[in-house]
Formats: sequence, C-alpha cells, structure tokens
Amino acid sequence: MKIIMLGAPGAGKGTQAARVADEYRIPHISTGDIFRANIKGGTELGKKAKGYMDAGKLVPDELVCDLVADRISQEDCKDGYVLDGFPRTIPQAEALDKAVAAMNGKIDFAVNIDVPDEAIVKRMGGRRACTNCGATYHVEFNPPKQADTCDVCGSKLVLRDDDKPETVKTRLSVYHEQTQPLIDYYEDQKILVTVDGTKDMEEVFSSIKEKLGA
Ligand code: ADP
Ligand code: AMP
Repeated sequence: MKIIMLGAPGAGKGTQAARVADEYRIPHISTGDIFRANIKGGTELGKKAKGYMDAGKLVPDELVCDLVADRISQEDCKDGYVLDGFPRTIPQAEALDKAVAAMNGKIDFAVNIDVPDEAIVKRMGGRRACTNCGATYHVEFNPPKQADTCDVCGSKLVLRDDDKPETVKTRLSVYHEQTQPLIDYYEDQKILVTVDGTKDMEEVFSSIKEKLGA
C-alpha cells in the first residue's frame, strides 16, 4: 500500500503515519525528519534546508523531489510506504507521480487529516519532539511517561524552533497557499480520503483504517 498523509502542520500526520506504518508493516518516510537528521548531522543538505525550516518556509522542490524518489526506490519500499510531509506542492506531487509511474506503481490513497487552524495553534504549542529518534508527544494530549523524556529512547524532548507561535502562523499560511491545492489534485485522481482530525488519536486512526479498508 502506497499512502500519502496530507494536512496542515500539526494536523497529526506524523502521529497517524507511524500507526499506519505499523499496521501495514511499511516504512514511514517523513521528509521533515530527514531534513532534521541532516541538520543534526551537519550535512550539506541540512545546511541548505535549515534557513527555510527555521523561517517556516518550504525547502525548495529541487532539494526534496530527488531525495524522495531515491528513498522510495529502496528495497524496503517494494511493498509500499507512508509518506508524511511530502508532497507539499503541486510540482512535488507531479514529480512523485512520475517517480512512482517509472517503477510501474501508483499511489493508493491520499489521507487528508482535516483540522481547523484554531486547533492547530494549540497542538503545535504543546508538541514535544525527541531530539534523537523523532518520536512526537503532546504535553496535554499525549504526554510522555516522564516529563521531557522520550518513552522510546530516553532522550530529551524539546519544543521545535518552528513550533513557536510566530513561525506556526507562517507555516499555516504557507500550507494554505502551497499545500492545500493538493486536496483537489488527489480528489481529481479519486484517491483522496478525508478524516476528521479533531477527534482523539485513536478515533482518527480508526477512521483512517476504515477508509483504507484495513
Ligand atoms: P504533523 O506531523 O501533522 O505536523 P503531529 O503528528 O506531530 O503533526 O501532531 C502535532 C501535535 O498534536 C503533536 O504534539 C501530537 O502529539 C498532537 N496530536 C496529534 N494528533 C492529535 C489528536 N488527534 N488530538 C490531539 N492531539 C494530537
Ligand atoms: P514537518 O516535520 O513535516 O512539519 O516539516 C518541517 C519543515 O521541513 C517544513 O516546515 C519545511 O520547511 C521542511 N519540509 C518538510 N517536508 C518538506 C517538503 N515536502 N517540501 C518542502 N519543505 C519541506
């Protein structure tokens, strides 16, 4: 199964992508996590991406498209994958279609997690991310067992720089301008499913499974 997670920043793409990946035993590919790992590792890609990310802007398409095309051509993706945070623009979606078609495949579902902007701001302020493994928590809705410590690997949890309120505002407007048009793009391809992302995490996951026919 080849699945794309769509939704505003903070809608719950990462949270649900991790569950979908477990359910279908397919890799969870998050372009945000890939960039953050590159920033941490001090790579050229990380250096190029950092300024855009800190400003809440999108990293240019040319830095993302080849990276994803290469990742989905790897052996562990042969039975499918769940893409989280990609595509985010129409040119990225077109590049993905081309890359998938070149491997004689097709995307099965684009899952749109629908959450209004007001709820997003609250979600982002409470999000805490692991500096080591990328696991995500929420101080109120999904707290770690021990404050500021990752349940999975024991590393420190932080508020991401780009989750601060002023950057969240920019990210939301970038989402509406550049990413939201993908909803129509996948609707036209008849692979769009929409779930109400304001429900609790388990309910959102149940509706995704139902729509995917799991
Ligand atoms: P995205 O990957 O779309 O940016 P995340 O999955 O990281 O979003 O979720 C953003 C924040 O909201 C996280 O702190 C997460 O724990 C929390 N969250 C995710 N889904 C829900 C939900 N259904 N209800 C409440 N909080 C949620
Ligand atoms: P995320 O973890 O998905 O919220 O992504 C964090 C940041 O990484 C975004 O605000 C962008 O700056 C950058 N990013 C992640 N994925 C993409 C993408 N597909 N296209 C452009 N920028 C991206």
